[in-house]
Amino acid sequence: MSKQILILPGDGIGPEIMAEAVKVLEAVNRDHDLGFELVHDDLGGAAIDRYGVPLADETLARARAADAVLLGAVGGPKWDKLERDIRPERGLLKIRSALGLFGNLRPAILYPQLAEASTLKPEVVSGLDILIVRELTGGIYFGSPRETRVLENGERQAFDTLPYSEGEIRRIARVGFDMARLRGKKLCSVDKANVLESSRLWREVVEEVAKDYPDVELSHMYVDNAAMQLVRAPKQFDVIVTDNMFGDILSDEASMLTGSIGMLPSASLDAHNKGMYEPCHGSAPDIAGQGVANPLATILSVAMMLRYTFGAAAAAEAIEAAVGQVLDQGLRTGDIWSEGKQRVGTREMGEAVVAALVRR
Ligand code: NAD
Repeated sequence: MSKQILILPGDGIGPEIMAEAVKVLEAVNRDHDLGFELVHDDLGGAAIDRYGVPLADETLARARAADAVLLGAVGGPKWDKLERDIRPERGLLKIRSALGLFGNLRPAILYPQLAEASTLKPEVVSGLDILIVRELTGGIYFGSPRETRVLENGERQAFDTLPYSEGEIRRIARVGFDMARLRGKKLCSVDKANVLESSRLWREVVEEVAKDYPDVELSHMYVDNAAMQLVRAPKQFDVIVTDNMFGDILSDEASMLTGSIGMLPSASLDAHNKGMYEPCHGSAPDIAGQGVANPLATILSVAMMLRYTFGAAAAAEAIEAAVGQVLDQGLRTGDIWSEGKQRVGTREMGEAVVAALVRR
């Protein structure tokens, strides 16, 4: 039986970077005889234009039927004025939630070839290899009640709610510990337990789960300190596990240690390793349509998909090695370009990766 992958290019640079990722996916599908069938649909602004909603029921049904989903990015100024419930980003939150994708894996790896692209000193970041495990379907982005209301004195007041149940904390903590086991066996749980009730429960439950992982060294850190430590001495971290909002912010910070958000893939997994794979960056409306976006984060997301959902480690490694080769050749999109390197566009970068795969 063929394995289905749903392709959702999304908005902005999404279709441009996805076109290159699909070329890479088709190349490994052929060379490694993986038997993938690709199904295409829309999400976000593109879905609003086509279906009137950011995630159509039929698209969700296709996502449920697929073994994995590959997403570009959603959002853009064209849809910014719409009501919150029908904005492109709601489609993304809804598909993550509907598919039960609670575990978001965001690696921050600094390729040695790009040490100069980081704004931090090379000695602080060279060899950096951090994995941030972010809880993705709970916390303040989903909590209710949430509202803007008018107080008796006529002033407007807005509030959100940050709920976490112990089951939600336990399952993401397990992902964190499992990942740490596969890597350097160090897990840092990030919270704000000195202030937030939800963080106090978070810390308690993580401590309970730790009893099942005596081989993993667990530490705790407040989120403000973690933000500081990530730029002061990022190599102290191996795996970080944290909630939805803290993970959102810290993983963007970690991505900049590596020089470009255009290099970073991500995976969002359910309890059975079905996943949605996407670059960490957004739809970059400022460069959309110019053919200059970096497709490597999306291409590396394909590698993560092969490894985590399909267990095709050899094909995943082939893609990662091909990306290393094009960087060795000196090819750079604008976001990672430096003096003496060859500036290329989205399509040239994607085709160079395919050519490197074929040469292997
Ligand atoms: P962004 O990640 O789209 O862009 C931030 C900066 O990084 C921009 O200067 C952009 O040009 C650059 N950049 C991003 N990806 C790049 C790539 N592949 N190659 C080269 N440069 C790249 O973040 P933003 O500007 O805050 O958001 C733009 C839109 O994207 C918004 O509508 C936002 O809601 C949406 N967004 C979507 C997702 C997602 O789909 N997962 C994530 C974040 C933001």
